[in-house]
Amino acid sequence: MRLSRRRALGGFLVAPLLPVVTRQAGAVIILDSTWQADNRKYITFANTKPFSTYVFGFAAGRFQVKTARRRGHTMRMLYRETNAAKVAANTKAIFDLHAQSVAWMEEYTGIGMPFGKMDFVLIPGFQYGGMEHIGNIFYRESSLMLEPDASENRKLGRARLIAHETAHMWFGNLVTMSWFNDVWLKEVFANFMAAKIVNPSFPNVNHDLNFLWSHLPSAYSEDRSRGSHPIQQDLDNLKNAGTLYGRIIYQKAPVVMRQLEAKLGEAAFREGLSEYLQRFAYGNATWDDLIQILDRRTTDDLATWSEAWVKRAGMPTYRTNVDWKKGGQLDVVLEATNTTEDGLHWDQETQVVILYTTDSYEIKPLSIQGKRSQLPAMASKPEPRAILPNASEMSYGYFALDQKGRSFLIDRAYQLPDPVLRATAYWSLYEEVLRGEFPPALLMNFVSVGREEDPLNQERLLSYYEELFWQYLKPVERGYYQQENSDKLWAYLESGKYQDIQSSLWSTYQQTALDPVHQRRLYRIWTGEDTIPHLTLSENRRISLATSLAIYMPDEAGTIMAREMERIENPDQRERFAFLLPALSPDFEERKKFFESLKDPANRAKEPWVGAGLRLLHHPLRTETAIAFIEPALEMMPEIQETGDIFFPRQWATATLSGHQSEEAARIVQNFMDDNPTLSYRLRNKIWMAADPLLRASKMEAVGRIQSGDRMDD
Ligand SMILES: [Zn+2]
Repeated sequence: MRLSRRRALGGFLVAPLLPVVTRQAGAVIILDSTWQADNRKYITFANTKPFSTYVFGFAAGRFQVKTARRRGHTMRMLYRETNAAKVAANTKAIFDLHAQSVAWMEEYTGIGMPFGKMDFVLIPGFQYGGMEHIGNIFYRESSLMLEPDASENRKLGRARLIAHETAHMWFGNLVTMSWFNDVWLKEVFANFMAAKIVNPSFPNVNHDLNFLWSHLPSAYSEDRSRGSHPIQQDLDNLKNAGTLYGRIIYQKAPVVMRQLEAKLGEAAFREGLSEYLQRFAYGNATWDDLIQILDRRTTDDLATWSEAWVKRAGMPTYRTNVDWKKGGQLDVVLEATNTTEDGLHWDQETQVVILYTTDSYEIKPLSIQGKRSQLPAMASKPEPRAILPNASEMSYGYFALDQKGRSFLIDRAYQLPDPVLRATAYWSLYEEVLRGEFPPALLMNFVSVGREEDPLNQERLLSYYEELFWQYLKPVERGYYQQENSDKLWAYLESGKYQDIQSSLWSTYQQTALDPVHQRRLYRIWTGEDTIPHLTLSENRRISLATSLAIYMPDEAGTIMAREMERIENPDQRERFAFLLPALSPDFEERKKFFESLKDPANRAKEPWVGAGLRLLHHPLRTETAIAFIEPALEMMPEIQETGDIFFPRQWATATLSGHQSEEAARIVQNFMDDNPTLSYRLRNKIWMAADPLLRASKMEAVGRIQSGDRMDD
């Protein structure tokens, strides 16, 4: 190493610079690294084992460095965070999580670290959570550098992200898909492995529940839309590879993979994966290659199963027909109400729960095959109150509740003793609202997290509540609930009883405080006259609070924004806030200028900032004026795809549409789609996905104050 001390402190550090020489085949080795007379540094690398070009990465910039040695691997972390206490509080966990992930993957696959070097670069405003470059994984800094009071769920999210990127060293980097139509495969493996890896580190977390919440709602959000597509998608030209990525790949595919594991059994599945990795190491393979390896280990016909689940679009929908006779005979038939475009059924295993009361129920396994699937007839003395045919974290689809089951569950779901069962009831009810079966106001009590014991369920109820509140409730309806629900959230915050979700409670409280009393309190917290109970007002929280206040209090927005700008210490955060100021402005002309500025690709370079800016423009309280930006934003989609990174077209469309719920906004989208039939199929899909909540919300009607909620006290 010839890096002088002066240069190390003041100059640029290049990520793949320190050699990590291991006996591992394929390690990244630097042969020479010299400053030349022209004041440039020349680095010569030894040949590595072969890998695909898309995982080559190079980081240059001003970074601080920490080094650690774990289980024989030296790892380095490059970062820019300036808050020394925050860095100190996070460093050990970040290294430990990487080391645990490596050890787990080595053990599971029987194959040592494929490329030896294990460094990572934390980049503020990085456009993804992480990117699995060989030897230097890139992460969004805020995903790893957590606040001191981060919730258990945030920590779990970080652990999963690290495990995901680490798992890619085997799945994706050691064995790469033959072509990008199978790009999903490396993603599903990374997610699938990540779920397995993080479990032992979080013994207090219910992992089936965690799997359910991290996959199903997100997968459905795309799969129920008109933009649904198969997991495996054709790709004619590599330049469109970016448009393949989305939640169907990241969240639906792991559910499908879990079904596959359940079909084979854990041991046979693992053997199959190990064979696949060894056979195709430092080379390419397809999904069909894997299916062939696995098919030899089961009597099931995996090829046919894979056609419906992997090679076709859409999610299954079911109706449950219940026939109970006074004598006590119960017949339950699950009827598939749709098929793939070409008539295939999505066969799967599920668990049917027959509920007599909330604490008396039976669980029966059911193999869903073809159009009608029937439980063996059973004797059932009392008449069941509700049937939940999807009580497994692997059950995938829309399982319609009947009227009776719906009204039973809506008031009592939280009384069910098993957290996965409660989760199933919650998302089934939520799905019913989205399908127009009953009004969103009926679920306003999802804010009553005090009735729910599990922190994962509590967090999900809070995010459902925010979605219902902003996306589906009409403004007049928000008025019915805003004060009471903010009172409730504040009481939870003050009680100190919900430490695991305190920061989520705070965030929901801040994001939904429409009542003036609560807004004044937020203002006092921002000025420092008041405090958040049991939570510190970190710089990030304070900036976010200032952002909300500027929207809630347009008359004081100018002062708030100027004062906050002065206070921000972190230079990257300052730059971000300065970028967002015009989008936050109470003056429409300023906001318009912000939008116009985005037509210059240079102003879209920091994509997460652009997404945040668009969300501010289209905040639900500003949709009347923001509606003018919808059509021009949609017209820019092809350019956004061409100039932006892989997730950007979807983010651009979502940030543009997610604040809207009016029929007028829905019409603009519909007209745009009608007028642009030649827009590429994938961009159309992205728009349909982003527009799905808007299209559903625009059809919902406001209802009066719903009284049933009144009896749902904590
Ligand atoms: Zn990935």
